[in-house]
Amino acid sequence: IEGEDKIKSITIKNENGKSEKIETDYILGFFGLIMKLGPIAEWGLNLEKNPLAPCSDSRLIECRIKGKVLSEKDRSYNPIAPGDRVFISIDLQSPDKGWILEKKKRYSAVRRWNRKRQAIQTMAANIELLLAVTTVKSPPFRPRFIDRVLLAGELSGVEPVIILNKVDLGKNDQIVKRINYYRKINYRIFECSTVTGEGLENLSQNLRNKGMSVLIGQSGVGKSSILNSLDKSLNRSVGDISSKHDRGVHTTRFGEMIQTTSGQLIIDTPGIREFQVTDIEPHELRLWYSCLLYTSDAADEGLGVDLGGRRII
Ligand code: GDP
Repeated sequence: IEGEDKIKSITIKNENGKSEKIETDYILGFFGLIMKLGPIAEWGLNLEKNPLAPCSDSRLIECRIKGKVLSEKDRSYNPIAPGDRVFISIDLQSPDKGWILEKKKRYSAVRRWNRKRQAIQTMAANIELLLAVTTVKSPPFRPRFIDRVLLAGELSGVEPVIILNKVDLGKNDQIVKRINYYRKINYRIFECSTVTGEGLENLSQNLRNKGMSVLIGQSGVGKSSILNSLDKSLNRSVGDISSKHDRGVHTTRFGEMIQTTSGQLIIDTPGIREFQVTDIEPHELRLWYSCLLYTSDAADEGLGVDLGGRRII
């Protein structure tokens, strides 16, 4: 063990004599052979690798969750979400395995109502940027879906931006009009195509200036293709649209955290058919859409709003 009152690292030697140094800046206690130690791991749920795989300093540690981590006041579908920061303990007998003992307080969380489970679902935690992905066609442009995802971003204190993918397929007048509305109310829109490469460098640069981000969109909008364009080595599997619409074929149900070679952390979520907003009462709705303020009587009621700005509370 290196370090004095604050332990800096622990070196573990296994039966084969192979040693491994684990960097840490925190020790909370000892539980027999198992230590409760940091650093806090940022992790993503990965269904294929079930159980959980926190990633910290490029190591993957398969973790099980201790029961108390799951107990929370409001029952939710997934008490730990991709992007959560957790304290883990390493199993000294097999250092690639461990337990999640505690979840750190989140500074942001994108949530939706999961109708099937009848519970709130956290799609991503501790993110800075929500990327709402849509297409000009194939699957069709769905502005109401985007509206709901934008609202979820606002409610969670995360900046929502729109990615309009597949612009190589051509925008019709209705889409142009709608996109102009979004711009008018100060949403950023990245128009891009993974086929022609248009707009991708700009998107990539904007992501680099931000912390962790999350991709949300229907199946087939091109989330995997966009990730591959941002970092070729990711090699995400790209599906044809007909198979992705078939639930039986495309079965990933959890978000996954991806790290690009430039160090960018992006949470990829499975394609979702609907986005039901939670954490808002109907009468509060207009306060979150600056476009509604132009037409509503909110300004007359003397609410403290800034019509010029996007954030309006
Ligand atoms: P995901 O389900 O959101 O991850 O979507 P994928 O990345 O798997 O893409 C779904 C389909 O759309 C695939 O057939 C891709 O080749 C295609 N696709 C992705 N991006 C574009 C694009 O910019 N233009 C066109 N025309 N097709 C695209």
